[in-house]
Amino acid sequence: YLFGRKKATEVAHVVWEQVIQKGDMVIDATCGNGNDTLAMLKMVTNDSVGCDGYVYAMDIQKDAIESTSSLLDQAVGPKEKECVKLFNICHSKMEEIIPENSRVRMVAFNLGYLPGGNKSIITVSDTTLSALKAAERILMPGGLISLVVYIGHPGGREELELVEAFGSSLPVSDWVCCKLQMLNRPLAPVLVFMFKREE
Ligand code: SAM
Repeated sequence: YLFGRKKATEVAHVVWEQVIQKGDMVIDATCGNGNDTLAMLKMVTNDSVGCDGYVYAMDIQKDAIESTSSLLDQAVGPKEKECVKLFNICHSKMEEIIPENSRVRMVAFNLGYLPGGNKSIITVSDTTLSALKAAERILMPGGLISLVVYIGHPGGREELELVEAFGSSLPVSDWVCCKLQMLNRPLAPVLVFMFKREE
């Protein structure tokens, strides 16, 4: 039983593996300590080919960018690290940093605060919504917007409501939107997936 044995982020990674292909461009909209960035890097790159795929990773905190960079230094070689582009910006500005006409396979959000960091710096509904709208614009058909939403901290539940309202509003002709929630662990993170249908 998937969710019982794994953390929410690991369950998300299992879903990503079904969607992401080698050579894809993906976006980590909240790179934090870099665990998701590293997982994405492994999914898009092919050791023998070098940078055919790319991860564009961003975070509003400089500390998070440094933490992601040092995790990558420990986990991968310098050539593979070059396939990750790190940006110290708000994710609502993601369209400004990706190359023009990019085909983006996935935009992933791991909302909330940086574990081990300043708990007062959290994602907030206003910019999360702007970032979701940007993700909707840049995602390629056959792509995925993935969110891990934490509801245990103040503002978390409101953010989940906003994410759910956004997913509910996407046209059913183009999108499949769903959530995965633990019924007997009411404070567990909620997973939301928005799949863009192939054309
Ligand atoms: N994915 C990360 C990992 O694997 O370690 C964990 C992410 S953590 C739960 C949430 C991150 O979102 C924090 O590092 C925080 O600084 C970042 N964040 C908050 N608001 C943001 C914004 N507007 N734009 C980009 N990142 C933001």
